[in-house]
Amino acid sequence: MDDLFADVLDANARFAAAGHEVAASGVARRSLAIVTCIDSRIDPLAVFGLEPGDAKILRNAGARVTNDVERGLALAAASLGVTRIAVVQHTDCKLTAASDADLIAAVGKATGRPIDGFDPLAIADQPAALAADVGRLLASPLLPAGTVVAGFLYDLHSGVVSTMVEPVLTG
Ligand SMILES: [Zn+2]
Repeated sequence: MDDLFADVLDANARFAAAGHEVAASGVARRSLAIVTCIDSRIDPLAVFGLEPGDAKILRNAGARVTNDVERGLALAAASLGVTRIAVVQHTDCKLTAASDADLIAAVGKATGRPIDGFDPLAIADQPAALAADVGRLLASPLLPAGTVVAGFLYDLHSGVVSTMVEPVLTG
């Protein structure tokens, strides 16, 4: 089974042999956390002019604010220097192209099992979903007062990031 990962392990051997810089700590140098989608076409560091060490990157399908995203952001804000949070959805997102029912059916078909209690978090309306997710963070008891949260849409093709939810401070 090892050869199933040979391509990436071979690449890693070259990476490790070449040497690389490591930031002195895991504190986010730019005080920034980015929540974005797992879409493999998104390179968050390149999109925002960042380098390793600059920001916390949290990714999930659709860039949704879930319990685990809230957990990561709470820890990053408490201990890893994060004071600004960008929630970044993108154009042509798979989660905007299907309903929750479609996605539940797709998982059921792929597994051959009945699917129960699974919420795919499909996005019917991106501005509304961004506003709701930013609002959830603004209301989170796990984030310190004074954390800045905003919502953005990244256009995969033009590369442009547009502000969809203006930055607001947690109270
Ligand atoms: Zn996506």
